[in-house]
Amino acid sequence: MVSSQPTLQADALQEVHAFWLAGMSCDGCSIATVGATSPTAESLMLGNIPGVPKVVLHHPVLAVEAGDEFMAPHHLAAAGKLGKPFVVIYEGSIGDESLNDINGGYWSALGTKEVDGEHQPFPTADMLKLMAPYAAAVIAIGTCATWGGIPAAAGNVTGSMGLMDFLGKDYRSALGLPVVNIPGCAPQGDNVTETIAAVLLFLQGIGPLPEFDSLGRPAWLFTDTVHQTCTRGGFYEEGTFAKKFGDKECLVEIGCWGPVVQCNINKRGALNHLGGCMNIGAPCIGCTMPGFPDNFSPFYTKPPGTIVSSTVSKTTGYFIRNLRRFSMMYANRTPLWLKNNHVPSGWGHVEDASHLQKVAHYFYNKIQFNNSVRPGSKPRNKTSSTKAIDEVKQQ
Ligand code: SF4
Repeated sequence: MVSSQPTLQADALQEVHAFWLAGMSCDGCSIATVGATSPTAESLMLGNIPGVPKVVLHHPVLAVEAGDEFMAPHHLAAAGKLGKPFVVIYEGSIGDESLNDINGGYWSALGTKEVDGEHQPFPTADMLKLMAPYAAAVIAIGTCATWGGIPAAAGNVTGSMGLMDFLGKDYRSALGLPVVNIPGCAPQGDNVTETIAAVLLFLQGIGPLPEFDSLGRPAWLFTDTVHQTCTRGGFYEEGTFAKKFGDKECLVEIGCWGPVVQCNINKRGALNHLGGCMNIGAPCIGCTMPGFPDNFSPFYTKPPGTIVSSTVSKTTGYFIRNLRRFSMMYANRTPLWLKNNHVPSGWGHVEDASHLQKVAHYFYNKIQFNNSVRPGSKPRNKTSSTKAIDEVKQQ
């Protein structure tokens, strides 16, 4: 922590103020956050979560106050005079306001400040710069605030950037934290509220400092790739791929970057544990990653890595898939049907097992029941399981 910075004692907090600043944003992060369910934004604001101090939210859209009444706490916090602990939550990327020095204007603003006797828009970038040293934590939410996002894509004339770039490598909050980053376009709402709750528990002195990775992302949310938790992963493994939108298989050949994207959307769903990109048929376009969008364009075309990975999985998947279908054939028959080699279904004709299939199944069973007892048969030799039962009986 920089020694000249203000410090904050984090004991027995009753409430923590949260200043929600919006830069170059579409408000999607706000919408995602108010839709969170675990925990809900309401439970944070009502102080309903044991151990988590009540959050007093100052949000430009959700606030009941307006005008000077709404802005007054902002100015106190920016001057280090709020007298209460607070965090800054920033949504949207930060335009380089110095670009406006010559022609005037601003990229994004909140409230006004007096310039030469006139009220001029107060750039949110300036507000952030003033508040950041006094804040217990600065939390960037959404890909625009974390890495720059779409406003910082190629052709960007606004000089847009994320909070890490804006505040710099040496920035530390009043409690010594670098910027916390929760990416996503929009971020998963629960990722936002859960991280805020975890940080507040830490500030309260109850919870440990949550684990963050080297880019300031909550490690428990952003270490695994989309692919590692995808509901379509089985199709990838068996080498079957969607050819068009609406197909049920793995989407990698129509543009899914999931194997190299760190995001938990498949595991957590988009809202209330439902939805999520791949779950509803949309290939991952890398929206949580620092390189988004440029490094993942053009969208909906095969990522170059697919040439190797899907070719390999098509080859190995072909054999694995057919071996599994063979096992499934027997798994789909009752012991009686197997004995009679006939399935009495009125729904359709079910093929009887061929001689080759019967022989293969015989050896499959040998391996399956090696060192254990096949249901309905008497053990010829003592197996490890029958030995264990004998030992228990003797005790
Ligand atoms: Fe992986 Fe994407 Fe295929 Fe899912 S759809 S298995 S994330 S490549």
